[in-house]
Amino acid sequence: MKYGFALFCMLVSPLLWAQNDGQLQVNGSRLNDTMQHMHTFGENAQGGSDRVAYSNHNRVAYSYLFSLMLESGLMPGVDVAGNLVGRRPGKIDGLAPIIIGSHIDTVPNGGHYDGIVGVMAGIEVARTLQESGIELDHPLAVIAWSNEEGGKTGSRSYAGTVEERELDLPSLGDKKIGEGISNLGGYPDRLAENQRNPGDIAGYVELHIEQGAILDREKIAIGVVEGIVGIKRWYITVKGFANHAGTTPMDQRQDALYATALIVADIRRIITGEPGRQVGTVGRLDVSPGAPNVIPGEVMFSLEIRDLDMDKVTRLFDKISVSAKAIAGANGTNISFDQYYESPATPTDDGIKALVQESAEALGLSTLHMPSGAGHDAQSMKGIAPLGMIFVPSKDGVSHAPGEYTSPEEITNGANVLLKTVVGMDELLQ
Ligand SMILES: [Zn+2]
Repeated sequence: MKYGFALFCMLVSPLLWAQNDGQLQVNGSRLNDTMQHMHTFGENAQGGSDRVAYSNHNRVAYSYLFSLMLESGLMPGVDVAGNLVGRRPGKIDGLAPIIIGSHIDTVPNGGHYDGIVGVMAGIEVARTLQESGIELDHPLAVIAWSNEEGGKTGSRSYAGTVEERELDLPSLGDKKIGEGISNLGGYPDRLAENQRNPGDIAGYVELHIEQGAILDREKIAIGVVEGIVGIKRWYITVKGFANHAGTTPMDQRQDALYATALIVADIRRIITGEPGRQVGTVGRLDVSPGAPNVIPGEVMFSLEIRDLDMDKVTRLFDKISVSAKAIAGANGTNISFDQYYESPATPTDDGIKALVQESAEALGLSTLHMPSGAGHDAQSMKGIAPLGMIFVPSKDGVSHAPGEYTSPEEITNGANVLLKTVVGMDELLQ
């Protein structure tokens, strides 16, 4: 019976290939049907998704994925961190697995595509391999990482960076993170078992929606991700002198908000003053005392800079700080800088990047090499495994909102590139 099926696949698969110009391809309509079915787990009245991490919607969606994985030749199981892992053996003993990963949890009132595309496409890739009778040399695992939106807890358990205190922190839903892991069938007190070391994973690849508007605007099918940008954040305090807004002449003021306004404009000038895709944002402003009839005595504001090149981030900040000190001084105020957050950039692997490019080309799909401005589970694999990412367009760049949309054709394109990339990784990573 077993051999009969293999023989059947050997006979039929060349026919399937021939139908697709000699290319092995996924079943796009089936893939998009599974995407549609995922809408039902946590869809809200606004048409968005409330399938937040660790919720019952999350858990019930797992049972759907469980059956889908079984149909696709993947052996499903929930690991200690509450990740849903579907495994398929490889041909050669002792090889580390290739992992396709993403997530199915959403932000509250989020969309139906962020993360979900990567998981559903990963399962469809496994199903296509099974139906075509293709055995990879490496084992393959398709993973729905837990709690991506609330801190990448699932994928970070592989990196061994989830601290015990995090388990007591609230998640985006009504449970603490530790309770949530248990709700999905994991064991929060055994997270350490998940830690992977270099060599434990042959390679990692993640298909994801862009969450920006570049691909959609330029009508490009596939983003070849160069890496996930690094982020640095500072709190900057400008101190002036709070005084009466009626009695203090304009030329005698030490107005901390006025100085800040000039500095914020100057930050934009510096960030856009050199070529590249760096971004800088002032997203928060606390003004005190904050009364209409008092000259602002102190302003605390945030600064965030992102780029693939951390040296560039540092260099831009140095320029900003020199210029901001001059502006503050010229306006009778003092300024201080406090860096409080750093997330290093995560470059993708050159070999996997080339495979994504070649795969898209072979399928006749246009590509753009681009950084990811948003964080992803893939970055948890840094230092453990060579990693790659594939982007598909997001309509108008809308994400983390009910209006998030990627067309069935775009999803199918991404899944086909994922399929070819995985087959290529199987050869490349021998
Ligand atoms: Zn995501």
